[in-house]
Amino acid sequence: MASQIILRGQVLSFGGSPFEGEAPQEAAQLHEAVAVQDGLVAGVGAFKDMQALQPAAQVVDHGDHLIMAGFVDAHVHYPQTAIIASWGKRLIDWLNAYTFPEEMRFGDRSYADEVANRYLDLTTANGTTTVCSFCTIHPESVDAIFTAAQTRGQRIVAGKTCMDRNAPEGLRDTPQTAYDDSAALIARWHRVDRLDYAITPRFSPTSSPEQLEAMGALWAKHPDCLMQTHLSEQLDEIAWVRSLFPQARDYLDTYEQFGLLGARGLYGHAIHLEERERHRLREYGAALVHCPTSNTFIGSGMFDMQGLMAEGQRIGLATDTGGGSSFSMLRTMAAAYEIGQLRGTPLHAAQLLWLASQGSAAALRLEDKIGNIAKGMEADLVVLDLASTPAIAQRAANAKDLWEAVFATIMMGDDRAVAEVWIGGMRV
Ligand SMILES: [Zn+2]
Repeated sequence: MASQIILRGQVLSFGGSPFEGEAPQEAAQLHEAVAVQDGLVAGVGAFKDMQALQPAAQVVDHGDHLIMAGFVDAHVHYPQTAIIASWGKRLIDWLNAYTFPEEMRFGDRSYADEVANRYLDLTTANGTTTVCSFCTIHPESVDAIFTAAQTRGQRIVAGKTCMDRNAPEGLRDTPQTAYDDSAALIARWHRVDRLDYAITPRFSPTSSPEQLEAMGALWAKHPDCLMQTHLSEQLDEIAWVRSLFPQARDYLDTYEQFGLLGARGLYGHAIHLEERERHRLREYGAALVHCPTSNTFIGSGMFDMQGLMAEGQRIGLATDTGGGSSFSMLRTMAAAYEIGQLRGTPLHAAQLLWLASQGSAAALRLEDKIGNIAKGMEADLVVLDLASTPAIAQRAANAKDLWEAVFATIMMGDDRAVAEVWIGGMRV
């Protein structure tokens, strides 16, 4: 049957978290092949076992390429695709100078369609099969990215960004229109095919208390939606939040008091957290999303990966396009490694690959569907060439084991390392 395929190579799966236990690599398992049928993983293991499972399957032999779950990017702004790598500003000025003028253009559906498709082309070329994206205040921007993903059979999460203050004319909604537009988009897109909706207040400075309250009410009505926002990215921003919400105990409290703290909540950045915030985030099982290229590019600070993992936080990894400086999760893993080094806590290659797949999938509460290779999981796969450039090839040739070889690709690899991408069991 044409719908049966066996991919042969070094197939990587995770049996647990490499942040728990003695040695990170022990959480990883290597197999010879993965069998795919009707968009799902039918089995993973020895090649002969996969052949016995699917005797008539087409075999695609990838030699010693690494085959793993497609990358999951847990926090992006697809409308910022065209302004990625904009020079010289910190968060608030960067939003005003670069982001807001570009986001203004997304009321035009044809422009939104163009950028949505360009964005998914770029991320797919980098091995990313699922993203969780902020859109703009325009419902058209949400329709554009969901339509593009639906056409490609891709699993994504997205939501209309809500802002009713401290943003320019043309980029502000109101508590009522934010609620109504978001509710209509949930009805149109949430759980349609592989699409999930995330209720999306941009961050406390651009939402009035009334708007945050409306978003909290919407989430209470649709508790199976995710909720995504930003938290404690820069010190100036935190001081601004304090002045806007004098009654709040801390930044997280500006969400918590309006019902915007929960297990399906995603909090981007979370760099400068106070003890109470860490405690509450952990208690709720909320997800923190680490965006390392963004944090260095905008000069925000160094996320405490090992400390937060050790206390049991749920953490995903993300590019934060276009505050982040790359569409590549390989580059993002490299930056997470570098921030770990600056903090004196380097991450193992197994931890980096896990964060970019299963960790991010768990942040999105999709770990039973994507982010790992196991029977019954959706067949979103990336095939990595571990010798994609002369520089990487000569290092990989000297590697003692798989982890040394993979680490060279993490640190120096780009879209040239992505040999093949499979989305929903189909080769892209
Ligand atoms: Zn962001």
